Amino acid sequence: MRIVVVSPSVQRFDVTTHYWQAEFAACVAYLRARFPDAEVIAEPAGLIGAPQRTVVRHLLAKPDFLVLWSRVWEAQAAREVAQESREISPTTRILVWGDGPLFIPQYFARQPFDAAVISGDAELVLADAIESYSAAALPEHGLILNVAPDQWKQTAPGRLLDPTAWPFPAPDVIPFTDYHLARELRGKPTDDLSFDVARGCPVGCAWCIDPLKGGRKDRRRPVMTTVEFMAANLGPYRQFQCHGPIFTADRQWIREFVGELRCRQLVVPFKGVTLVNHLADDALVGELASVGMRAMGFGIETLTADKGRINLTPKVQERLLEQVAGNLQRHGVEGKAYTQIGLAGQRREDVLYTHRMLRDCGFTVRPTGATPFHLLRSMSVAELDQLDLSRWDRKSYFDPACGLTRREFFQLITSPGTFMPEAEMEVA
Ligand code: SF4
Repeated sequence: MRIVVVSPSVQRFDVTTHYWQAEFAACVAYLRARFPDAEVIAEPAGLIGAPQRTVVRHLLAKPDFLVLWSRVWEAQAAREVAQESREISPTTRILVWGDGPLFIPQYFARQPFDAAVISGDAELVLADAIESYSAAALPEHGLILNVAPDQWKQTAPGRLLDPTAWPFPAPDVIPFTDYHLARELRGKPTDDLSFDVARGCPVGCAWCIDPLKGGRKDRRRPVMTTVEFMAANLGPYRQFQCHGPIFTADRQWIREFVGELRCRQLVVPFKGVTLVNHLADDALVGELASVGMRAMGFGIETLTADKGRINLTPKVQERLLEQVAGNLQRHGVEGKAYTQIGLAGQRREDVLYTHRMLRDCGFTVRPTGATPFHLLRSMSVAELDQLDLSRWDRKSYFDPACGLTRREFFQLITSPGTFMPEAEMEVA
């Protein structure tokens, strides 16, 4: 059996590779483990900016399964690859997974796809589907699938994988040199090896993929396997990215994690993402910093310039920001504040106030265009086909209603450290 796992080739604004490694390369590792006798080929073309011919050569080998990984902005490209595949190799089963089918399952419930993952842990859903199809049976969970010409059916909800069986990214899937180049092109300072530590988030922000992908409950990889992986696999990378929605959500897990690293007398550089309010706990920051925490990201999204209005992001308590900044500085941890430009209800003064405030606190600010993925869910396929989905890339989606000029917007998302509003630039 030959299984080809493809990230479709597509031009895009940004080339974030690190945390997609945790998803794409780990899924490949899982499929290899589940089907040790199969040939599982990975083509990360979209992740590393490779051209379309690298994908087509795999289709010419007529695989039994083509497993396409598609984020929303790659949906059109994924469909094109699927169409090519259907023409070149009509018997190849075409499965698709990723943020694309989670946000817009309707887009993929049509020819030439055979099935799309819409719930559950994707690697388990895909592997079980491959097993079923190979036994001439229909898959049973986590999918919307084609059951007859132009007939689509939703299966039972997707099953979850026991965290002890969560895969680690296969190291050969995204070669380090490709990763390194993509990172340099983005002007980022460190090479980070990303792997899943936690899945699922109970907060449920409308635009976010995590609750759709991992469910609403925090689930965790066991401490022991996490630490063992970190102790042995840094290789050419500078630090780990302990990937998960809210790294510090489970304090018992954090205590055991810190304890295990200390017990082994290890200080392993790592970063993660959490809720900003958790970082107001100085002891927590200190303990994690003592075993290697170098940076922590947190979603601010936006603050509200006019305090008479309701705070736009209730998950952030602005009064805690200075305390958080002090804790991080004291323990030598970089604070990365994620902000969004163009959120509903946000005004120009909110964007400028948020940026100034976070910079004054000493945080590294990481702005993105607010990309309202949740608005796509209710659209028909015909409406989705009218859109240029490649714009929906989680970084460069520009809505003039944000009050910034296009020049200001691009300056803010590409050079947040030196951003100045146009009026101030003219004065300077
Ligand atoms: S808290 Fe963070 S991970 Fe959770 S839903 Fe909101 S943005 Fe997503």
